[in-house]
Amino acid sequence: RAAIDQDVLEIYYQPLVNLQTNRISGFEALSRWNDPQRGFVPPSIFIPLAEEIGLIDVIGERVLMRACTQAASWPEDITVAVNLSAAQFKSAHLVSAVKNALATSGLRPSRLEVEITESIFLKDSESNLVVLTQLGDLGVKISMDDFGTGYSSLSYLHSFPFDKIKIDRSFVRDLPTSLSSAAIVRAVCGLARSFGASTTAEGVETDDQLTQIRAEGCTEVQGYIFGRPLPASEIPLLLSRLLPAPRELPVVDSR
Ligand code: C2E
Ligand code: MG
Ligand code: MG
Repeated sequence: RAAIDQDVLEIYYQPLVNLQTNRISGFEALSRWNDPQRGFVPPSIFIPLAEEIGLIDVIGERVLMRACTQAASWPEDITVAVNLSAAQFKSAHLVSAVKNALATSGLRPSRLEVEITESIFLKDSESNLVVLTQLGDLGVKISMDDFGTGYSSLSYLHSFPFDKIKIDRSFVRDLPTSLSSAAIVRAVCGLARSFGASTTAEGVETDDQLTQIRAEGCTEVQGYIFGRPLPASEIPLLLSRLLPAPRELPVVDSR
């Protein structure tokens, strides 16, 4: 609560790289909390806590506003992705918070991607679908995050036209040796393609994984191989370079 009161949460940005152009296509905004006593507290700890104590809407609105404002200063073709928690869909203000962030920052709606997880289809799926449709109607892109790790009903894929499917790191980690992981990645890429959606492989760390991901037809890659999450101040430098070979990219501490 004190961290929210004092507004000390920061946003780090991790590059997403398009495999056709080999260029950075966007960044994912990832919240960071550096507490003087506890050190870096990971979002996997403080986001569920914020959901539980009713602070996720405040955090979510700040992340939206800050990420849109920051992204508005980047080149026109670079997008920003913001994670939305299922708990934020309970609030009547989510759509107006997104509208407000876009209007205040002047960011073109199609440069904002919102990442949701399968969990929004578990409870209150009808009303969540209405909100998702309203967000889509604003021109914002909608991504399905951590695909394959939830309850994985495929039915929601035909109830909503996702723009992007992000393949969870657990299917990327064991490439290229695991035949079943490769089969899943291939199938998800094919499925997404036939729905007209793009795909992002999450958590790509090695050259071998990258080669396999490319072969399976993924659109985009996110992972330590291309860069860890970094503070907004370091983005202009990263963008000013053509993307060199993965290993030559500066690696910044992930916090
Ligand atoms: P996510 O949305 O799936 O984000 C990707 C996570 O994978 C990030 O962890 C990122 O640092 C990590 N990652 C990226 N590449 C690699 C890699 O090559 N190897 C490994 N081992 N990890 C990699 P992070 O930043 O700790 O965030 C964890 C989760 O917390 C996020 O998963 C997201 O669900 C949630 N989160 C973070 N920020 C926010 C936020 O502002 N709002 C909400 N609602 N959730 C957030
Ligand atoms: Mg995400
Ligand atoms: Mg993810």
